[in-house]
Amino acid sequence: MIEKTGVPSAKQIASCFPDKITLKKPKAIIECYKEIPCNPCDTSCPFDAITVPEDINVRPSIDFDKCTGCGICVYHCPGLAISVMQLKDGMVSMKIPYEFTPLPNQGETVNVMNRAGDIITPGTITKVQHTDKMNKTALLHVEIPEAYLYDAITVEVKHGSE
Ligand code: SF4
Ligand code: SF4
Repeated sequence: MIEKTGVPSAKQIASCFPDKITLKKPKAIIECYKEIPCNPCDTSCPFDAITVPEDINVRPSIDFDKCTGCGICVYHCPGLAISVMQLKDGMVSMKIPYEFTPLPNQGETVNVMNRAGDIITPGTITKVQHTDKMNKTALLHVEIPEAYLYDAITVEVKHGSE
């Protein structure tokens, strides 16, 4: 699927997620579908949860037991291929990378989009992290209904601030 459309199949997406019990704690979801020579996800993780083998072309693997959901790998991945997801009370708390301006404001409602670029639901920005150490990639914390767990990937900011 991804070879033809650039959009991964539902099966490919599901293969990146742990079970929903595990997702009661925040976990990194790595959607790195291609073999590429890259490893900042591995080198940036302070908990040694991500492994890219000596052959740097091999896709990364993650040990969900070690992952704390801190989000550091999210803003170090040059491919914007990692997010953090957590299930709580029928909602998903997402941490996603964001490299556009304007950045949204905390409390703002944004359009949440799927991998095909379609708007699927409104989401609420619960936090915006953006410091000098973050490689010009902001970390947006977004809350959405659980029904969109496997579909949501990024957001469209409607207002925001520079
Ligand atoms: S979210 Fe944090 S603990 Fe989990 S893999 Fe990424 S850097 Fe490591
Ligand atoms: S840093 Fe990102 S693009 Fe590079 S191997 Fe890791 S997940 Fe894939």
